[in-house]
Amino acid sequence: MNECPRCQSPLEMLTFGETSTVACSHCGYADIPVEHERDVEQPESWQDAFNRFYDHQARRTEETTG
Ligand SMILES: [Zn+2]
Repeated sequence: MNECPRCQSPLEMLTFGETSTVACSHCGYADIPVEHERDVEQPESWQDAFNRFYDHQARRTEETTG
């Protein structure tokens, strides 16, 4: 079990489909690469990743039907 780097509380495991991350319900810390860091350039945001995932699923559905 990881501990929160901010308040040392036990981190909770969150699962989004096949992706999992940890978050602290005590101080709101979340181990998600979406912070207020302008220097870090995100190759792909979580929203884009989800959109790509759903688009991929939709295409597979179209292929199977017909
Ligand atoms: Zn915390």
